[in-house]
Amino acid sequence: MAIRSTLNLCTFLLVTFFVAEAAWAQKEAGPRLPVLRRLSEPFLEKLDRERALLAEGIEAVEVPYPFVRGRFHFHSHFSHDSNGTLEEIVAAAKLTGTEVIGFTEHKSREVDVVAENVTGWYEDVYFLAGTESSSDLKNSLHWPGREGEDDVRFLCHQEEVPTFDRTKYDGIEIYNTHSDAKDEPIAMLITAMVMNMGAVQKHPESAFCSFLDYPERFLTRFDQLTTAERYPGIAGNDSHQNQKLQIVALPGGGVEVLDYADEVVWTGDGLRAKMLLAAFGQTEKPEERKVLKTIQLDPYEISMRHVGTFLQIEEINEHTVRGALRDGRIILGFELIAPLPSVGFWVEGQGKPVGTVGDEISFEKGMTLHVSLPTVAQIRVVRNGQTFSEVEDKELVLDLKKSGVYRMEAIQVLAGQRYPWVLSNPIYLVEGEK
Ligand SMILES: [Zn+2]
Ligand SMILES: [Zn+2]
Repeated sequence: MAIRSTLNLCTFLLVTFFVAEAAWAQKEAGPRLPVLRRLSEPFLEKLDRERALLAEGIEAVEVPYPFVRGRFHFHSHFSHDSNGTLEEIVAAAKLTGTEVIGFTEHKSREVDVVAENVTGWYEDVYFLAGTESSSDLKNSLHWPGREGEDDVRFLCHQEEVPTFDRTKYDGIEIYNTHSDAKDEPIAMLITAMVMNMGAVQKHPESAFCSFLDYPERFLTRFDQLTTAERYPGIAGNDSHQNQKLQIVALPGGGVEVLDYADEVVWTGDGLRAKMLLAAFGQTEKPEERKVLKTIQLDPYEISMRHVGTFLQIEEINEHTVRGALRDGRIILGFELIAPLPSVGFWVEGQGKPVGTVGDEISFEKGMTLHVSLPTVAQIRVVRNGQTFSEVEDKELVLDLKKSGVYRMEAIQVLAGQRYPWVLSNPIYLVEGEK
């Protein structure tokens, strides 16, 4: 009897252990799924469900430093590869809480894309007019000076630039939507999109998240740059609203998919074509070429919500916006993953806030580092490029014993995959008088 109950207890403990393991394992991310799986109906359905669940638990928290949502690296019809209108951009800005937009148009011979573009307030959105170009300076986003303020330049698409002179730029992109999408095998991505066209159309936000990766290489470089000296990091939305797919049924029963430049990116016949056509209600062979559907993959609203450059400022004007960019008073937020009504990363001394991201603060004994999020996430604090603290929580307070360059990131695990949710610029705690 005694043996039996010991055995039962063992079994009980063993089972409890495995159940606990399993419950824990659900929060742990699995291996990165291939793109075909990440765009499949069951996966997108699951991601939609888990995103909605996460959003339900979001509760704004009080933080000492407020922010405004900015979107930088942004294209409109002034760029050769976009047809986006100011009205469409303003409408998307309102839906996504965007208050500042930094245009970076491709230069043109016909028109001065800075002089002709909108600057300052327009319909409650504050605009900076600028260019994306390599003519004067390699891979530069450039906002020429205005209202007595100096020029601001950021290095964009850092994956294309093995080395650069940091003094020529005010900062660097630490995330770029296009760079992130480009690291997927493009033929696979298109095939996956086409084969799951119905699902992509039904779950546009989750489909957009399919290529979202933690920007590890960008951040490693950022850590090297910031550990040496203060250097700001922004997100490049690289919004164009130009990624379209057009599904065309052919008289022979086949199907063609064209991209925004009307190039055929995919063809199919037989069963594959039949399934795809059926998804768009085409069950018979058409008499002639028939456009079944045009899908806009990157409407401004989605590419804005995807990532934002949150400026830690209270008032919006030319001086505060440029100041935040130059100082790195910036937190990146990925709001397709979960809304961010508030987010905070700051230092307190003697119980009072003494600075936040981008600030240089004289280190004093007894100072504490604070993280505050609107829901639980995997929080990681990085000091001089190394993990300093890692917890799963919505708040974190750490005693600071040393000076250093501290940044914070928050990760969410959804549908078994890891997604960046918050990436902050560093707080610079310096020895002695600053
Ligand atoms: Zn472009
Ligand atoms: Zn661009």
